[in-house]
Amino acid sequence: MVNAYLEIHNLRKRYGLKPVLRGIDLELPRGQRMALLGANGAGKTTLLRMLAGLSKADSGSIHIAGLEMRSDAQQIRSLVGFVAHQPYLYEELTALENLLFFGQMYGVEQARERAGELLRVVGLERRARERVSTFSRGLVQRLAWARALLHRPTLLLLDEPDTGLDQEGNALAERLLIEYSQQGGTVLFTTHQLERALQLGDQIVMLAQGRIAYQREARTWELEGMRRTYQEVVQ
Ligand code: ATP
Repeated sequence: MVNAYLEIHNLRKRYGLKPVLRGIDLELPRGQRMALLGANGAGKTTLLRMLAGLSKADSGSIHIAGLEMRSDAQQIRSLVGFVAHQPYLYEELTALENLLFFGQMYGVEQARERAGELLRVVGLERRARERVSTFSRGLVQRLAWARALLHRPTLLLLDEPDTGLDQEGNALAERLLIEYSQQGGTVLFTTHQLERALQLGDQIVMLAQGRIAYQREARTWELEGMRRTYQEVVQ
């Protein structure tokens, strides 16, 4: 019986002989935001890629919206939006062409209107017809957000979503994240910034030695206490 919107059970992954995830158990209810913390190389990206259906677990299970990853990967992919380290965009296409391409891939209805709406939301409407190859890192990241939201995903995975964004871009990313979850969307995001995790997460999770080493509700925590726990658990 699956209750949470996202449910992960005993998930394991190794690269060659190296175990990266050694049995992850996590539950995230619908509409909640979870911050995933961990040292460099702890396996945060590995976990997100498996949830996005881009990489396979060695064992264990992932359920999203009651669907199981092994049998329903395609359906799950249509429910998930992913802002990753790589933007998954075509440099030789314009911003609008990229969104139309992904719109077609995901079967988005009225894709042109939806693409236009998202370009406005991320502040790229004036650059819509420019090639991505001419974009700065920050503009690419804004377009990656638009791509991730295009098909109205119900689970949003954000791998250090503030990377490359300036202050204004950061404020935009925060606004998008909050609005998205207020509309019922579920969010799992990674960050190295403890303040950000506390400010934007409902749940804080710390990953260490391939396991969930600590989990706590953000509203029961102060930054200093969280910093101490992070040092003990993660570093
Ligand atoms: P960071 O905070 O630096 O982004 P992370 O927590 O996201 O780190 P991962 O990128 O998931 O960590 O990497 C976990 C470990 O798995 C690292 O030791 C990394 O070198 C290794 N790894 C990741 N992808 C591969 C791969 N495709 N092949 C081999 N090893 C990999």
